[in-house]
Amino acid sequence: MKPAPFTYHAPRDAAETVGLLAELGEEAKLIAGGQSLVPMLALRLAVFDHLVDLRHVAGLRGIERRGDAVWIGAATTQAEIGRSEQVARDVPLLSRATPLIGHFQIRNRGTIGGSVAHADAAAEYPAIALTLDARLETLSPRGSRTLPAAGFFTGMWSTGLAEDELLTGITFPVRAPRSGFAVEEFARRSGDFALAGAAVAVELDGDAQIRRCAIGLFGLGPVPLRAVAAEAALAGRGTDSVSAEEVGSTAVAELRSVPADLHGSADYRRHVGAVMVARAWRRAVKEAGDA
Ligand SMILES: Cc1cc2nc3c(=O)[nH]c(=O)nc-3n(C[C@H](O)[C@H](O)[C@H](O)COP(=O)(O)OP(=O)(O)OC[C@H]3O[C@@H](n4cnc5c(N)ncnc54)[C@H](O)[C@@H]3O)c2cc1C
Repeated sequence: MKPAPFTYHAPRDAAETVGLLAELGEEAKLIAGGQSLVPMLALRLAVFDHLVDLRHVAGLRGIERRGDAVWIGAATTQAEIGRSEQVARDVPLLSRATPLIGHFQIRNRGTIGGSVAHADAAAEYPAIALTLDARLETLSPRGSRTLPAAGFFTGMWSTGLAEDELLTGITFPVRAPRSGFAVEEFARRSGDFALAGAAVAVELDGDAQIRRCAIGLFGLGPVPLRAVAAEAALAGRGTDSVSAEEVGSTAVAELRSVPADLHGSADYRRHVGAVMVARAWRRAVKEAGDA
């Protein structure tokens, strides 16, 4: 099938973009890399009279160190992020998650803003943004806002963005000393969305005690999740006193509404999720200890 007819708009700056969204209302949709939107249009699962293309919008692309954070423009492609030495050095978890997204053809066009705004609960970038306490910068006709990733994902494919609001950039905190990061996922085939996945960020103090940690889960609920009770229980403990399996089972014990479909039951996903958390925990703690 082909998409239903639409009018194409190519604004040049962010203000013009949100002006168009406000003027055209719910008949308009932003398009970035098109890697989620175009299949939906082609299958006519979604129909919009107007597509507003972000490709020519100035100021939405790039990767910059800004103080203690790395800013990434919303229209920066997944491939650019995967190639960035700055991201590999300062936000290694984001770097490591990138090759897990689809295939290189998808990453060449798909953008970080599109991934986060699309908010698939099994996608890597939303979970990484949540794990790293990223901050989301937006613009609408009412002005700009900065939103924490926590609370941004409100349901399957839904976020705190208003219909006329553009995600302009995302900032990630630069890694702290003695920190370690890992992401693990299980997918039936390479490039598929994960059945279950986990991202871990851990920071140790000088005595190998856990100063703080973050455990992000994807594919295990209607939104990406943080295992907050497990994180709180781990803070202050010595890494030697914690087994990775214990971290895995504690992290999934908190889960409610685990999806079930023909690819796997909720119990199966929960089991796979615990294994992914345990693997990621082991690797992140080792990296933090070696740092
Ligand atoms: C075969 C296949 C496999 C895939 N596998 C994976 C995978 O394993 N993991 C994964 O994470 N993803 C996967 N994807 C999805 C891919 O990562 C998409 O690129 C991504 O989800 C959307 O980014 P995009 O730039 O293409 O956005 P688009 O498809 O252009 O847009 C997606 C949504 O985001 C909105 N949007 C885009 N940019 C903005 C913005 N700046 N502000 C506000 N709203 C915006 C659009 O209006 C639309 O609603 C896969 C896709 C395909 C086709």
